[in-house]
Amino acid sequence: MKKIIIAIDGHSSSGKSTMAKDLAKEIGYTYIDTGAMYRAVTLYALKNGIIADGRIDEEKLRKALPDTHISFRPDEQTSRPDTYLNGVNVEKEIRGMEVADWVSPVAALPFVRKNLVAKQQEMGKAKGIVMDGRDIGTMVFPDAELKLFVTASPEIRAQRRVDELKAKGEQTRYEEVLENVRKRDYIDSTREEGPLRKAEGALVLDNSNITPAEQKAWLMEQYNSVVNE
Ligand code: C5P
Repeated sequence: MKKIIIAIDGHSSSGKSTMAKDLAKEIGYTYIDTGAMYRAVTLYALKNGIIADGRIDEEKLRKALPDTHISFRPDEQTSRPDTYLNGVNVEKEIRGMEVADWVSPVAALPFVRKNLVAKQQEMGKAKGIVMDGRDIGTMVFPDAELKLFVTASPEIRAQRRVDELKAKGEQTRYEEVLENVRKRDYIDSTREEGPLRKAEGALVLDNSNITPAEQKAWLMEQYNSVVNE
């Protein structure tokens, strides 16, 4: 069967990562979470004093980028990919609120995007990947065989994020999370470089009111129609 690239873009907390992970597992593809890559760079900047006193030192970050090595390795128990930064598992840390607060401004910096987009293109060149992010169908793989744009209302996305953090033992306020979701939507869609928008030819999936099972069935239908065409 032919191997393809599946590009999944969409809003924060639209459930696209879970969807992309499950799809990759089902069809035996590699899953690449590009949001985790932007989060890992942000964590590096926070830990190394590059983000301090409420600002990003862009020059320092530019110089530090060659020292950030990001990779994914399957978790021993869940077999889902965990994010590693310079050999250290940072999967939990990159999902916290501090990183969430800074990741969009970091991801809006053109030199950060250029660096990570090149890494993503390298990771996907053998095909057989499901990659999720904000600019995969528009910038990273504009020729991807299957492109999806996933969304849901901000309120539903914020509630999902609260539930997710709660399940991991992190207490957050719904209003705070909703504000973060809205802020990230705004920064992601209005930035100059690689803004979040529906790629040409992308199929739109609004999952506000559908079940995970319905979503999965729809997804498999799209995948099958592309690989069997
Ligand atoms: O997908 P996730 O919410 O983990 O992504 C975190 C942030 O990283 C997004 O809000 C966005 O600012 C940035 N991002 C991006 N381009 C991507 C993936 C993520 O700008 N391809």
